[in-house]
Amino acid sequence: MWAELLPVGRSSASGGYRRSAWTGADADCRTWFQEQAEARGLAYETDRNGNQWAWLGDPAAGDAVVTGSHLDSVPDGGAFDGPLGVVSAFAALDELRGRGARLTRPLGIVNFGDEEGARFGLACVGSRLTAGALTVEQAHRLTDGDGITLPQAMEDAGYDPGTLGPDPERLARIGAFVELHVEQGRALDLSGDRVGIASAIWPHGRWRFDFRGEANHAGTTRLADRHDPMLSYAETVLAARREAELAGAVATFGKITVEPNGVNAIPSLVRGWLDSRAADQAGLDTVVTGIEKAAREYATAHGVDLDIARESFTPVVEFDHALRDELARILGRDTELRVPVLGTGAGHDAGILSDRVPTAMLFVRNPTGVSHSPAEHAAEDDCVAGVSALADVLEGLACT
Ligand SMILES: [Zn+2]
Repeated sequence: MWAELLPVGRSSASGGYRRSAWTGADADCRTWFQEQAEARGLAYETDRNGNQWAWLGDPAAGDAVVTGSHLDSVPDGGAFDGPLGVVSAFAALDELRGRGARLTRPLGIVNFGDEEGARFGLACVGSRLTAGALTVEQAHRLTDGDGITLPQAMEDAGYDPGTLGPDPERLARIGAFVELHVEQGRALDLSGDRVGIASAIWPHGRWRFDFRGEANHAGTTRLADRHDPMLSYAETVLAARREAELAGAVATFGKITVEPNGVNAIPSLVRGWLDSRAADQAGLDTVVTGIEKAAREYATAHGVDLDIARESFTPVVEFDHALRDELARILGRDTELRVPVLGTGAGHDAGILSDRVPTAMLFVRNPTGVSHSPAEHAAEDDCVAGVSALADVLEGLACT
C-alpha cells in the first residue's frame, strides 16, 4: 500500500508531495482508497462532504469504531502526515482478520477531505463541515489562490457541492474514533518510544502586530531622529523567543510585511504575525501577555505606534479521558511496549470531532520531528509497531 501511494502527487523537483484538496493528485489518492476498500470487500461510500468511508459491518447498527486520517498534503509536504494513518488503518484491519478476531461493533475506515487546508486556507474542512463547526455559507466563501471556490473545485472533481452540510446522523453512529498519525515533534524520539497516546491538542492562536513609525531617508535621517518600527519589531521577535522558553511553550514570528519595503527607506509600517501555542491556556496567556507587554515597551522607546489584533484562536482540545485510559490499558498488556501519553501542538480532524465523538490519537515516532516537509520520516519498524498497536486497540474496542 505504501509503495502504491508513494509516487502520487510527488514533485520531482522538491521531492515533496502536492496533494491539495480536489486536485488530480487528491483524486488519485481517493481512487486508491476506494480500491483498498473494495479489495477487502468493505462497503464503500463518500459522505455529503466528500469524506470517504469503508465499512466492515453495518454502521447503522451504531456504536461503530472508526479509524483513519487524511490523504491530502501541504505544498511540498512529507509522505507520512495523513497517509500513515490511512494505510495503518487498512493494515490493522488485515492484521485483525489474520488474528481471526470477531467483530462485535461495526468498524470503519475514513479519509477526511481537505485536512491540511493548503488550497482554501482553512484546515480540516471535511471534518468541520461534518461536525457543523463550519457552516455551508462559510464553506461557499472559501476561495483558492486562483479564485476558484470550494464548491466549484468539488464540482470539477466530480462531487456534488449541493450536499455540503452537517452530518449529525453519521457522527451519532460512531462510538469511538481513533486516529493514528506520525508525530510532528520529537517527544517519542527523546523518550525512546515507538508509539504514544495523545493527551490533548495545545491551545493555539495567531496575533497580528502592526508597528507604525515614520518613513524617511536611510541616508540622511540621523539615528536619534528616527521612528523606526523595524527596531521594535526585531526586539519583539527576541522577546517572543524568551517568553516561550520561560513558559515551556512555542512562539513564532514567521510572516512579516514591510512598507514601503525599500532598501534605502526607514519603514513606515512593519506588520508581523505571531503564532503561539502552549500546553494549557494559562501558559499561552502568560506567553502572549509577556510578548505584548514587551512589544508595547519597545514601541514606546522608539516612538512607534503599536496595534495588536488576535486573528484566530483554538482552545485546548482534551481527548476523551475514558477512551484514552482504555487505549493505555489495552496497549499496557504488551510488556515490551511502553506507550507514553503526550500532548501535541498540531491540529487534527480528531480534534475537530472530539466535541461530538469520543476520540483518541496514537502517534508514531518521527526521529527528526520534521513535518510538513519532504524530510518528514518514520522508520519502517516503528510504522509496523504503530499498525500492531492500532490493531490491538481496534481488537480491544470492537472485537470479542
Ligand atoms: Zn495530518
